Order: sequence, then structure tokens, then C-alpha cells
Amino acid sequence: MINLSSLDIANKNLVIRVDMNVPLKDSEVLDATRIKACLPTIEHALSNNARILLISHLGRPSEGNFEEKFSLQPVAEYISNLFNEKCELINSLESKDIFNGKFNVQLLENIRFFEGEKSNSAKLGKILASLGDIYVFDAFGTAHREQASTHSAIEQANIACAGFLLERENRNLTKVLNNYENPYIAVIGGAKVSTKLELIKSINNEAQNIIVGGGIANTFIKAAGFKIGQSLYEESMLDIAKSILEKNKIVLPDKVITSETFEGKNIQKKSLDEIEDNEMILDLLLKEETYSILDSAKTILWNGPMGVFENKLFEQGTRDLSETIAKSSAFSIAGGGETLSAINKYINTDDVSYCSTGGGAFLEFMEGKTLPSISALNAKNTER
Ligand code: AMP
Repeated sequence: MINLSSLDIANKNLVIRVDMNVPLKDSEVLDATRIKACLPTIEHALSNNARILLISHLGRPSEGNFEEKFSLQPVAEYISNLFNEKCELINSLESKDIFNGKFNVQLLENIRFFEGEKSNSAKLGKILASLGDIYVFDAFGTAHREQASTHSAIEQANIACAGFLLERENRNLTKVLNNYENPYIAVIGGAKVSTKLELIKSINNEAQNIIVGGGIANTFIKAAGFKIGQSLYEESMLDIAKSILEKNKIVLPDKVITSETFEGKNIQKKSLDEIEDNEMILDLLLKEETYSILDSAKTILWNGPMGVFENKLFEQGTRDLSETIAKSSAFSIAGGGETLSAINKYINTDDVSYCSTGGGAFLEFMEGKTLPSISALNAKNTER
């Protein structure tokens, strides 16, 4: 994979695929974390007198149509303010508008408005690849999608390279995937086993223990033979959960927090064998020895909350876990939207060795899959 730092970009036209899929409210950027994550690449380009055209998606519009609520206009305004220099929003792929010398920073309107993005169209890929001198891929969050701007454009660009964010993600995630130090402990929480099954299976071969939380823990608690009342779990995952339990790596909670409703009717702290038919497990507490395991870990991977932490009544498990990871001297990585919002809520991103910007891309990378954008970038390297 060619890295941006190895290329002479002075006075060149750079097309940079970024992930600026940020939350918006009333045409304002609510959380700019993803925009800020792109800054090292953008600042490097501008300080080398390169001109840049940024490409991003936003939300899930229907392809081929302009929909105001998915417009990147608020992002263009945010970038203009950040750089104190106008970032021009470009609505079409006509070459007369792009890199025409009027602006150093341009942003293409939501790439998902353009026909062919989702289907990885070679035609759209070719157009994107031909707009500038170098195609820089820095959108780790969409690197698991084989689409025109994340795959075909890389394949068809004269020169395509990885931006600084992609390089950082690749380096930090690879360290845990292939070069982790033992003891390696994984913490997998969240709603459903099925969305994280491949990750759980592959980590079950690598990590010393997997601490489970959320609806995922409920499925394992049921598979271990306990009653879980009305709790969220996946019936279709019970057999596979039983076979995963056979390796004795799954760590179940010490106590669970139950309630009869999501609003908190009749909240109780219970042992696993005390759950009534009308109760739901909405949070959990780990054993003292589980916290000790985390304290002495050398590597920690974390994805997914321990409970319904959005509600203060059910946040203790996720808060305790966050604080334990923050104190640990292990090399820790975390990924996924809910996980990062828990980190922002209870600790600081600096308390974790590396917070990935990926959700689906993070999961697939840590499953050991080579993401389509990364394999396209790797193939470029061997062609040179
Ligand atoms: P995920 O996106 O798979 O990481 O799941 C995160 C979501 O799982 C959060 O919105 C949590 O509220 C939810 N969640 C966590 N624990 C539970 C639970 N015990 N019951 C129902 N939902 C849960």
C-alpha cells in the first residue's frame, strides 16, 4: 500500500475520499469527530500547496436523487469555518467546475446522490479516478464497502494511496489482530450476537477471555442454562453460543440489573439464577476477578456496551467497564459508534490507546478480513 507521505504532492490536484458522515441537526454539524479525524491528511495536502476535492457520503439517500436532508452543505460550511477559507460545494462531476483554480478546498455533494456509487460502477469509478492527479483513500469507516468511490476509483486511478487516517487505523488494528501481547482480553457487548458472530468466533481462537455484555451476554446466559425472562436475546444463535461456551473463554457477569420495563419499573440487582419470567436484563456487573483480569491484561479489544447505557438507570456496567479500561496499562483499542459514545460519556478518548473511527469496518477488520478498499490499495502497490 502506498502511503501519502511517500508521494510528492506539491501543487498537485488530490481527490480525497473521506468519511464525513456526521450527525446533523437543523443543518448544523452535531458531532465533528469524523471531520476532525480527516484533518491530518487535509492539512498535509494544503501545507504542500496541493488543491483538494473531498468526497464523502452522508446517510442513506436513494441513489440518483438530490435530497436536502442528506446534503453535505452543512459540512462544507463547517470546513470553511475551520480553515477560514471557503470550501466550495460541487454539485456535478463536470470537470470545468473541479480544480478550476478558484478554490483550494472543494467538497463534492454526497457521493450517494450519484448513480453507480452503490453498485461499484466502473463508469463512475473512472470519472472519480480521473478528476485529479492522485486518489487518496482515507475513509476507513467505509473501507468495508465495495463501491465506486471506495473500490473502483482506487483500481482505476493512475496513482492511489492511503491517507494518514487509514494508515493509523491499519497500524493500530493490525497490532491487535496479528501482534497482540498476552494476556489478550476482548470485551464484546451490544445488542445482537448475529452482527458480531464472526468477530466472536475469531477472537475465541485468539484471546484469553471474552467478556460479554448487553443482549449478547443474554444469549450466552440463556445458552448456559439460565432463565432470562423477557430479555433481548437471539433464539437462532443459541446453538452456536453453546458451542462457543465449550472453549471456556466466555466470561459471564456476576450480577445483572433487571427491570420489568425499559423505563425502570421494579429495578433489581440479581444473580443469574434469580431472574423472573416478567423481567428483562438491562445492565450487568462484572465479578471482582473479571476486573482483575482486565487490570492485568496487556491487550484489550472493546466493542459494544454492557447494558442500555443511554438510560442512566442502566449505565453502571458500561461506566465501570470504561473506567477499568481507562486505568489499565494494556494496549487498548475500541471501535463502534455506541462504544465511542460511552467512552466520550464516561472517560476520554485519550484513556484508550486507540479509538477506531470504524463501525462495520472495525468489526470486519478485526475478524481478519481484508477490506475491499485496502485490497484495492494493496493491489496498486504491486502494480508499480
Ligand atoms: P450494538 O450496536 O450492537 O453495539 O448495540 C448497542 C445497543 O445495544 C445500545 O443501543 C444498547 O442500548 C443496546 N443494549 C445493550 N444492552 C442491552 C440489553 N441488555 N437489552 C437490550 N438492549 C441492550
